[in-house]
Amino acid sequence: MTTFAKSLGKSSGALAGPLLKWYDRSKRDLPWRVAAGHPDPYHVLVSEAMLQQTQVATVVPYFHRFLAALPTIADLAAADEQIVLRLWQGLGYYSRARNLRKAAIAVMQQHNGRMPSDVELLLTLPGVGRYTAGAIASLAYDRRAPILDGNVVRVLSRLDAIEHDPRSPAMQKRLWARAEEILPPKRAGDFNSALMELGATVCTPRNPQCLICPVAGQCLAYERQLQHVIPPPKKAKETPLLVRHVLCLRDSRGRFLVEQRPPTGRWAGMWQFITRPTEDFSDVLRTSTPARTALGTVRHALTHRRYEFHASAASFDGVTDSEKWRWASPDELHHLPFSRPHLKIRALAEAAFGCHG
Ligand code: SF4
Repeated sequence: MTTFAKSLGKSSGALAGPLLKWYDRSKRDLPWRVAAGHPDPYHVLVSEAMLQQTQVATVVPYFHRFLAALPTIADLAAADEQIVLRLWQGLGYYSRARNLRKAAIAVMQQHNGRMPSDVELLLTLPGVGRYTAGAIASLAYDRRAPILDGNVVRVLSRLDAIEHDPRSPAMQKRLWARAEEILPPKRAGDFNSALMELGATVCTPRNPQCLICPVAGQCLAYERQLQHVIPPPKKAKETPLLVRHVLCLRDSRGRFLVEQRPPTGRWAGMWQFITRPTEDFSDVLRTSTPARTALGTVRHALTHRRYEFHASAASFDGVTDSEKWRWASPDELHHLPFSRPHLKIRALAEAAFGCHG
């Protein structure tokens, strides 16, 4: 096992020059970056919230749509949560969207509409953790604030040839300290962006391109040819499987019966077809039971659990609106925020009934 003591002296201070030069030359043109100066802190907040657990290519069109609909932090703070969820639809991990709106409200109410530049103040905003606070402070305000995301963890682990599991609390603590220690006195935001960019494009999880890496000369993993085994892979863990039964009811006016999820928990506040843990839909189908047609199974994997949605459909008029469910016209169906698995089920149901979305 490598000790930190040896690696610390090697790369401190010597990283910034070549890394920033490389970044200036090679950085990708991303919509939340600006050619000169610093990006708008609101843009950083939105993009960083979207980029958590999500690929850049997926985020780009969402970012454009979000900013077109809600161009300022004041617009986001004033927006209805359902609008924000609809803009987020398909990105997953919807608590990010709800927290983003709450953070905008807090900025409007507690900071006169101006995003704080201080990490401690940023940390008081809903949904803003150490990483996002560091990103806003450094990228938008050029504060010397460290950041540590998956890309930075990998790059730092390799630069220092750390063979320990970087996910352990002790290593996280050490890596945060390291991320702060190597920050240059100027251009801290660009330096952080460059570290992330290096991890995303050169120092990739598999097949890092050490031959073209601007900091290969500072990299202990490369020197020791350990870059392919650092960081050690995550131990595969069996995640629990949750089975759900979904009933897509359509009435003779072409409307679908939908229900809103509770205000807390997974997919909170979003809409779905009638979904139950068993095939018992008797709370909805009180009067009679229509013949159902199987639509298929939709599988959805999250970090800690997997879902299997067994969907079926039926034509039925014997349900009236209630506090728990209501009929939605085809147009409404496409404006309500749905989770990704229910979007797939919606497509199956529309195909089965011959509707076009
Ligand atoms: Fe990553 Fe290789 Fe560069 Fe080291 S030399 S930082 S392992 S790409």
